[in-house]
Amino acid sequence: MNWEPWTGCYKISDGCAHCYFYGPLAKRYGQSSIQKTDKLDWPVRKNAKGEYNIKGNKTLATCFATDFFLPEADEWRKEAWRIIKQRPDIDFLILTKRIDRFLVALPSDWNDGYDNVYIGCTVENQELANYRLPLFLSYPIKRRFIACSPLLEAIDISPYLHGIEHVTVAGETGREAREFNYEWVLDIREQCVTANVTFWFKSTGSLFKRNGIAERINPFKQGSKAKELDIDILNGTKLF
Ligand code: SF4
Repeated sequence: MNWEPWTGCYKISDGCAHCYFYGPLAKRYGQSSIQKTDKLDWPVRKNAKGEYNIKGNKTLATCFATDFFLPEADEWRKEAWRIIKQRPDIDFLILTKRIDRFLVALPSDWNDGYDNVYIGCTVENQELANYRLPLFLSYPIKRRFIACSPLLEAIDISPYLHGIEHVTVAGETGREAREFNYEWVLDIREQCVTANVTFWFKSTGSLFKRNGIAERINPFKQGSKAKELDIDILNGTKLF
């Protein structure tokens, strides 16, 4: 289930190059202008009986069609934090390429983090891993995960895995997708095994190279193809 309190985004790093917000799919999935939606208060809306419309014990993927930490959303984010605080029975999963804006407009009672907030830091290459992950680890966050997505090269995240609960890896999607090498995936998986961190190979992306052969993968098969390779280490976690 997704919660999109605002929409729109713009490119800030290498992984954004072929983001689906632009081009022919922009109308369907979003746009570059940042706009508040009519869903900002959605997690706390109630029915006629005074019960929440969204029942508890759920995970809400938050701002997966935008970025929670966009500067344009600084004011709206204050309200979003208040809403998140009111629903401790829901886990909010927030993925960002703007982790360096994490501290902006943080609630005054955040302390070392809310129990129901999982923050995911996206990294797509070594340079951005080296920039974003030390910041990510320095912030007061209770539940952290790393999303290597879209992964664009082999990366070493092993220095940054302490305090991380989970890592996901995925390739780039779309007609212009850059090649995604299975060896990079296996390498990160090994780093997770050594650090005792759970691992999910989420998607092959559109141009997947394995055993020296690059293959175009249909968008509807990228998740199942990754799953077929059977390399996930989830240890019963259901969140991701
Ligand atoms: S941060 Fe995410 S949503 Fe925004 S342009 Fe980049 S890839 Fe697209």
